[in-house]
Amino acid sequence: MKICFATNNKNKLREIKEKLGKAYDIISLSDLNHSEELPETHDTLEENSIEKARYIFDLYQINCFADDTGLLVEALNGEPGVNSARYAGPDKNSEENIKLLLKNLEGITNRSAKFITVITLISEGKIYQFTGEIKGTITNRQVGVSGFGYDPIFIPEGWQKTFAELDLREKNKISHRSKAVDKLVEFLNKSL
Ligand code: IMP
Repeated sequence: MKICFATNNKNKLREIKEKLGKAYDIISLSDLNHSEELPETHDTLEENSIEKARYIFDLYQINCFADDTGLLVEALNGEPGVNSARYAGPDKNSEENIKLLLKNLEGITNRSAKFITVITLISEGKIYQFTGEIKGTITNRQVGVSGFGYDPIFIPEGWQKTFAELDLREKNKISHRSKAVDKLVEFLNKSL
């Protein structure tokens, strides 16, 4: 089954391809020669996720799914949340986002946080959503070199390592996105 993952994020694409194996022919925006950023104009992960998927479906008439992810930090009232990508400014710089988050958490002992991913699938024009979540804590400094985004400062619950210290397979067993993808795959398998 051919399906487009509406992303230009190579890390996300690698995670999802590793997880789905060969059962699905996953193409991405670069296969459609689409390098333009997708619109994310709303205040919720759910709406932004739909917006991205619908944009690609309308443009290319192809079955597709998009994800929107946020890191919600308890002591910051759920920030950066839906603004996770642009927390430190419009250029979506992960290093700057991390620095700002660590600065805003200086002196705060409650380090609880969670990642939430919302995947929207548009199949034959119908919309379906799947959510995945993982709880954890925010470190005081960056540890590890794998992964992307906030991975070097997030320790998933039950682990002593940050996401950036886990290899792709380990992260894929537990991550927010992989939990949402599991639900997507269960749905696709049932409806095929
Ligand atoms: P978006 O879903 O691409 O809009 O991602 C929002 C923000 O969360 C970006 O800054 C990403 O780098 C970050 N992000 C998304 N997924 C992950 C992840 O699995 N680990 C760490 N950061 C992530």
